[in-house]
Amino acid sequence: MALKTGQQYLESIEKIKMSIYLFGEKIENPVNNPILRPSLNSVKKTYELAQMPEYQDLLITTSHLTGEKINRFTAIHQSPEDLVKKVRMQRLLGQKTASCFQRCVGMDGFNSVYSTAYEIDQKYGTDYQERFKKFLLYAQEEDLTVDGAMTDAKGDRGKSPSQQADPDLYLRVVERREDGVVVRGAKAHQTGIVNSHEVLVMPTIALNPEDKDYAICFAVPLDTPNLHIIVGRQSCDTRKLEGSDIDVGNSQYGGMEGLTIFDDVFVPNERIFMNGETEFATMMVERFAGYHRSSYACKTGVGDVLIGAAALIAEYNGVPRASHIRDKLIEMIHLNETMWSSAVASSWEGAQLPAGNYIIDLLLANVCKQNVTRFPYEMADRKSVV
Ligand SMILES: Cc1cc2nc3c(=O)[nH]c(=O)nc-3n(C[C@H](O)[C@H](O)[C@H](O)COP(=O)(O)OP(=O)(O)OC[C@H]3O[C@@H](n4cnc5c(N)ncnc54)[C@H](O)[C@@H]3O)c2cc1C
Repeated sequence: MALKTGQQYLESIEKIKMSIYLFGEKIENPVNNPILRPSLNSVKKTYELAQMPEYQDLLITTSHLTGEKINRFTAIHQSPEDLVKKVRMQRLLGQKTASCFQRCVGMDGFNSVYSTAYEIDQKYGTDYQERFKKFLLYAQEEDLTVDGAMTDAKGDRGKSPSQQADPDLYLRVVERREDGVVVRGAKAHQTGIVNSHEVLVMPTIALNPEDKDYAICFAVPLDTPNLHIIVGRQSCDTRKLEGSDIDVGNSQYGGMEGLTIFDDVFVPNERIFMNGETEFATMMVERFAGYHRSSYACKTGVGDVLIGAAALIAEYNGVPRASHIRDKLIEMIHLNETMWSSAVASSWEGAQLPAGNYIIDLLLANVCKQNVTRFPYEMADRKSVV
């Protein structure tokens, strides 16, 4: 089954018995938890839109591995046109959910690991890309949501992973076995982790030769023994518990992030895509970060919702044609479309990597991220004075 319906996605997540903690309590039924459910609804939208003919040009593409139809969130980008369709899909989902729909991190991880594994194999004669392709094929055929796990706890930012006073501040290999490795550490701020089927773990920083145990990339299912998730707080999360019809913000949709702890997790060899090749950590991190900076195109979809809401408020107040209000709405549109310009430009300027897949233009993707760290706040500021 290459494409799941929204309901099938929900049922598939329900079946995974994850170890999740929220406010210090273990959560037995995350799918129906009122604080977590809106975030699941946002991911579910990536499945629902793929079932709707009017959105299939953006949400569905062809697997370069099999030629079968797959959800674009599991695809390896084959051209600049693919990269442009990706950001269009992200803007659409931002419009439909007005929130983070969480599935981009895994997609960006797929494209980074696919290309980096290929280049490691070229240098060392390893078979990481073949292993990764098997995992990717599984993700495509089962239409999986995969969390992209890069950020470590880090500790002293002035020291490399192996120089830290506490060696577990960066995720590392603590045991090497014939059939795989055991890893220990944590990945912080994992977007959509409780709504994912699998987690794809990558290093987070440039590594020195002595950081060999930290140069590890792998994927495991979320119900793997000794893997625990602590959900991060959101500023308005308990509002969702109030049972009110009003003043609950974006009550149907939302994002979530969590600290994911690997308390001696076993990873079998077939799921390892880098193991000790420290000099390739930078490549993997830069590519992931680059893809992800362009993926912030999603915020223009959220911006569309904000602009629409501001215009509606002006209309309700009987002042839609007041010149100072129109000026502010125009400025909001200007900021939103400036973010969009950098996302689209970074996609059209994409280039082919040695593995054959396409990467966005890294400089323009950085401009996109810079814009996204400033403009949504300026837009919200304009709205507040409409
Ligand atoms: C809502 C949310 C969702 C996220 N989702 C994900 C996810 O799905 N997957 C994932 O892997 N990560 C995720 N992240 C993590 C995000 O990518 C990191 O927060 C980000 O990379 C910054 O890392 P940090 O928080 O450790 O800050 P730091 O790296 O500590 O940065 C803090 C400040 O210190 C500076 N600094 C850091 N190191 C140095 C140094 N050596 N020298 C000088 N200055 C330095 C930085 O420039 C910055 O100004 C998410 C974060 C948030 C907030």
